[in-house]
Amino acid sequence: MSDEEWGSKQIELLYGAVLDEMQWKNAFGELGLPDETLHMLARAVTIRVDYAFAVTWSPNWVSPGRPHTWADDDGWHARCNHCLAESPASRTEGEVEAWFDDHVEKQRAAHEERF
Ligand SMILES: [Zn+2]
Repeated sequence: MSDEEWGSKQIELLYGAVLDEMQWKNAFGELGLPDETLHMLARAVTIRVDYAFAVTWSPNWVSPGRPHTWADDDGWHARCNHCLAESPASRTEGEVEAWFDDHVEKQRAAHEERF
């Protein structure tokens, strides 16, 4: 589901985190659950949490004023923790950090209270 389908980027990120955790546990625990089942369970948990809790992306492992960066099969990515904008996939972590610095410069007024 995209963020449009979830209604917000915050909930889309929650769904992604729940699904990711279930996929890791399924793999390392050798549970053998079909991916379709994991998606169904992750959707159910996300909908239930969204129903009664205020969920906000707030990664405590990221230094204030810096982006969350990660790598996957497509390359490196960065997410602005203020507006949740994501960089295009890039070859190196340095490239996505440069994207972030440029992003903050262009969005300075909108991000002023945060950075
Ligand atoms: Zn931003």
